[in-house]
This record gives sequence, structure tokens and C-alpha cells, in this order.
Amino acid sequence: MPHDTAPSHIRSIVIAGGGTAGWMVAAALSRTIAPHRCRITLVESETIGTIGVGEATIPPIQTFNQVIGLDEAAFLQATKGTFKLGIEFAGWRARRHSYFHPFGRQGNDFGGTQFHQHWLRAQALGDDTPLGAFSLNEQAAYAGKMRQPDGDPRSVYSTFSYAYHFDATLYGQHLRTLAEERGVERREGLIEEVVLDGESGRIASLRLDDGGMLDGDLFIDCTGLRSLLLGEALGVPFEDWTHFLPCNRALAVPTDCVDLMRPYTRSTAHEAGWQWRIPLQHRMGNGMVYSAEHWSDDQAHAALMANLDGQPLADPRLIRFTTGRRVQSWAKNCVAIGLSAGFLEPLESTSIHLVQIAVAKLLNWFPDMGFDPMTMAEFNRQIANEYDRIRDFLVLHYHANEREGEPFWDQCRTGAIPDSLAEKIAMFRRSGRLLSRETDLFQDASWLAVLLGQGVMPQAHDPLTESLRPLELDQMLRGMRDLIGRAAQAMPSQADHLARIGGRI
Ligand code: FAD
Repeated sequence: MPHDTAPSHIRSIVIAGGGTAGWMVAAALSRTIAPHRCRITLVESETIGTIGVGEATIPPIQTFNQVIGLDEAAFLQATKGTFKLGIEFAGWRARRHSYFHPFGRQGNDFGGTQFHQHWLRAQALGDDTPLGAFSLNEQAAYAGKMRQPDGDPRSVYSTFSYAYHFDATLYGQHLRTLAEERGVERREGLIEEVVLDGESGRIASLRLDDGGMLDGDLFIDCTGLRSLLLGEALGVPFEDWTHFLPCNRALAVPTDCVDLMRPYTRSTAHEAGWQWRIPLQHRMGNGMVYSAEHWSDDQAHAALMANLDGQPLADPRLIRFTTGRRVQSWAKNCVAIGLSAGFLEPLESTSIHLVQIAVAKLLNWFPDMGFDPMTMAEFNRQIANEYDRIRDFLVLHYHANEREGEPFWDQCRTGAIPDSLAEKIAMFRRSGRLLSRETDLFQDASWLAVLLGQGVMPQAHDPLTESLRPLELDQMLRGMRDLIGRAAQAMPSQADHLARIGGRI
């Protein structure tokens, strides 16, 4: 929506909840909708607090930060942030196996054929160079390096991309300052009742514990897992995906370890779940995601505490969740954004991204001409699609495992998977081809890394690659690998890069 277009039907927006989602929405709306044209109020309750554990992101967060006007160095300082070049998955395929999901692409396409098809052919000819040797992100991550990508497609640094790790509470505070400076009004208070208009069934106002009433034309539900407005008041059902993704609890604990030599998230598979490790400038974020059907809280706690780097800075915090999404994100005059719209475990750090996507789509489909059912249906279709595609990608990590004899992993390997994922795996296994759409969040490089990392090896490669003689292929791959290795070594360390741009605390 253009900056100075008056939202004719929307004169007042109420954002319920001030977690990462609420303040992201406030920062984005206050930047894109002129505050004198539309009042924006955010209500949050210190008594309830926020979930406060979203610490790892994916590359599109850079765009969000730019759109809301954040300076990268100031943002990194304020949130004690670090760079993230990808995710290491340890023990997922088998206990002593690991692989890397890089945020940049592997190699360069040549001869009119995708790079990985040439790599597959080389493997068939007996070359055992791992795909990761052709990923600048992976090589830089393991060497503790970082620099800005290069926009020139001829540069090897154009294959590079990055995201951030940050302290979620500090990010929320940073966004709050920004939003309040731009005119967003913050109310402290507990929402005690969501008052509906008897005739239209829309939300008319929120009644707070101090007796105050908050009226609005558009309500954004950012109340977290409880989904107070969309789920509870408007009764929009929740689609439960526990049968695809059985984890339903998490324990989170920070430690005092500081490690700038690992600019990546580590995810380590355990008997009945997995452990995250997220390095920040001042501490390490850690946690265990697990299935309560396969592990007691005590078992998860013991496994987490036995595998920490550094000393705990607090007692582990237990979080219960159900994986899935609301059937619609937008109903009546209420749009749910964040955990109130759905939950997908943080395996690929996608929740904050889903907030970003929902804000962008809300602005695209802003109801300035009223609540048109076609607009709402399209918004809901697009949001549902985003959740469904990410779900498929997460299920792949669990499903394609070789951890035979471990009940949790056996269940994941033999249980039902979405048809859309089954098709994708079958196509890749048969031909090395990747079924992807341009609108998919995770593109070929990501699917490739995880499919191969989890042991899904194609039985064939593209016949077009045969136009190259084996010796030429070998020379081509060797040249590319050397170039990427040298490029990674030439990069500054993450610590130096942070200091150079002024992002170091
Ligand atoms: P919350 O943070 O729960 O905020 C809810 C807000 O609503 C609060 O301000 C609360 O006070 C308010 N509220 C609720 N009820 C009322 C009421 N009655 N009256 C007034 N106010 C009310 N995402 C990532 O992208 N990357 C990650 O690495 C990542 N890790 C995660 C790890 C775990 C274990 C979990 C559970 C989630 C993780 N997430 C991650 C998800 C991420 O934390 C959330 O998507 C993000 O923080 C947004 O949360 P939220 O704002 O929707 O909800």
C-alpha cells in the first residue's frame, strides 16, 4: 500500500500482543501507513510476558529490517546479534553423520544444466567430493568467516547469503522504540474480554483489566499460542499436524559460552528430539525440542544439561506446543500473525519469517476498501500455502532417517507424510530433479542439501551432463572447488567483520 494512501475503512488498528510478532507488525505498519491517517495501538501484558525464544532467522529477515528502516550495525549491537550462514544437522540421518544446510547455492550451473546434476554424474563416476565443498556458505561457516555478499553475478561471493542470530527480547525492545517513535501507542494491560458486534460477528473492542475499552476497525491477533482473538473469540479451528511432526515440548536455557568462530546454528538429533545451539555475542541460546510421547520432561532435561557448552545462566524453561496452523489466518476483521496463527518447530528457524510474510501479505491485501471475502480468501490461501510448504521441508528431516531401532525415529521414518512431500522425494530419487516453485521459501539449494544430507540419493542424473568428457568434468569441478576454498579463506573472520561494520558490542 502506498505510504500516503488513506485507508478509508480502517481508521484504527489494534495489535493485541507485544511479542516479536506484535512489535514486528507495529514497526512495519507504522512505517507503511501514515500514523496521522490511522491510529495504531498495541496492547500487551507484562503479567503474561512473551515466549522470548525466537533467536535464529533466515536470509529474508534482511529485507524486513531494511523495509522498516533498521541500520544493520545498530541492530546487531542492540540485539547482541551474530551472523548465520546456515545450519549444521548432526545425527539426523544417522548417529555419527552430519551435514550442512547452507544459505547460499552450491556451485555454478554450466552447459545449460544445473550444477548438482554434474555433481551427481561425477559421483556416479567415482568422485567422492561432498556437495558442501562447492558451497561458499558452508566453507566460510566452518572457517568462522563472514563478509557481505557481492551483487555481481560473476563474483563467487554472489553465491553467498546470510541471516542473523539475535536476542529475541532485545529485538522486540528495539522494534518497540522504533514503532513508538513513529506514533504507535502502547497500552499495558490484560485483555479480559474480546467484545463481538452482535450483528456482524466482528470484533468491536477489547476490554482490559483496568476497565478500559480498546475499539478498532482492524484487529491483529499477536497473542501467541493462545490465539485469544482469532482462535478463542472467533472460533477459527486449529489443524493439528502432530501426526506429521510429533514433537510437542521444548526446554530452553541460555549458557555463558561465547563462540564467534561458528557463524551457524547447530541442530543435534537425540533419542526423542533435537537440541539447538545458537551463538550470540554475549551468550549461547540452547534448547531441546522433543516428543512427550517418547521422552519424559526429566529425560529431556538430563539430555539437554549433559550436552551444553558453558554454564547455564538460568533454569531451563518448559514450553508446551502443538504443531499446526489455524484453518484461516484472517476471519471477520481479525488477522492472526505469529504464534496465534500457527506453530512450526524452530528446526529451520521459520516462525519469525512467517510473521514477516504475513505482514507483507496484509499490506498487499490491505482492507482499505472494506472486508471483501475474495481478498480474505486469497490472503488465507497464500498464508496456508506458506505453512504447508515449510511443514513438508521439516517433515523431510525426520522422515528420511536411518536411525533404525530407536522408537521415535522409527515412527518418523515409517509414519505417513504429506503427498506433496512424497512426490518430491520420489522425483528426486528417480532423476535428481527438484520439484519446486518460484514462490517456495526454500529453493533448490536448500532441498538439495537436506535431501542428500538425509541420504536420499538419486538413481540417475540429467543425460545432458554426458556432453562433457569425464576429464573435462573433473577439471571443471576441481576448479570450482578450489575457487570456493580460496574465496572462503580470503574472507575476514566473523569477529573482524562485526568490528569493521560497527556491529560488535
Ligand atoms: P509471544 O511471544 O507469546 O507474544 C504474545 C504476546 O501477547 C505477549 O506480549 C503477551 O503479553 C500478549 N498477550 C497474550 N495474552 C494476552 C492478554 N490476555 N492480554 C494482553 N496481552 C496478552 N522462531 C524463529 O524464527 N526462530 C527461532 O529460532 C525460534 N525458536 C523458537 C524456539 C521455541 C522453543 C519456540 C516455542 C518458538 C521459537 N520460535 C522461533 C518462534 C518465535 O519465538 C515466535 O514466532 C515469535 O517469538 C513470535 O511470538 P509471538 O509474538 O507470536 O508470541
